[in-house]
Amino acid sequence: MKKLANNLNKIQQELSTYHLTSSTAKLIAVTKYVESDVMRELYHLGQYDIAENRTDLLLKKKIELADCSKFVWHFIGPLQTRKVKDVINNIDYFHALDRLKTAQEIQKRAEHEIKCFIQVNVSGETTKQGISPDALVSFIDELEKYDKIRVVGLMTMAPNTSDKQLIRNCFKQLKNLSQDVQRLDKGYAPCTELSMGMSQDYQIALEEGATFIRIGTDLFQ
Ligand SMILES: *Cc1c(COP(=O)(O)O)cnc(C)c1O
Repeated sequence: MKKLANNLNKIQQELSTYHLTSSTAKLIAVTKYVESDVMRELYHLGQYDIAENRTDLLLKKKIELADCSKFVWHFIGPLQTRKVKDVINNIDYFHALDRLKTAQEIQKRAEHEIKCFIQVNVSGETTKQGISPDALVSFIDELEKYDKIRVVGLMTMAPNTSDKQLIRNCFKQLKNLSQDVQRLDKGYAPCTELSMGMSQDYQIALEEGATFIRIGTDLFQ
């Protein structure tokens, strides 16, 4: 408990130093590593934005933590089409939209507008999910017919490398892409949020304009 509180404080403090120079960014606690009891500790520490990447665990924890009504649930993993109906009305944000088939299914199953991030594979690594930067604008165009989908922003994962410049370029590119989308001036795609930065690289992400950072390891280690 003490350690969790300390880790949380340290990250929050870093966030507040960046707030002096850029817009406010939010910490999302990636709780895929921990059980509901630890998540409840987070709740009592005032950390409400949480993220899961597996549908079965998300649903289990939602039930176990039904009393923690201020939690904001982010889903950050790939979402199989057949799982959409179980999950989509149980989350507040979906960070990994990268397929029209998924969009179609969300349109069919969602009971309200869903805040989505388009996941972009900026680094081009074949192991990474996400659409290629070249395909982004036409993908956004295609989403126009789905009124259950609001494109709040873009999400990416930096390459697995110790090369800081490579990581920075990746985040810079995501920001540029978000500005391309903003210029389209689509009501359903304000695209003002940037979900980027994990334990290894969140300082760089904040310097490059992240509005949501997704931290697991640094919080729970
Ligand atoms: C696990 C995960 C994170 C958190 O990564 P850490 O390195 O543990 O901070 C962030 N984003 C996604 C999509 C993840 O799957």
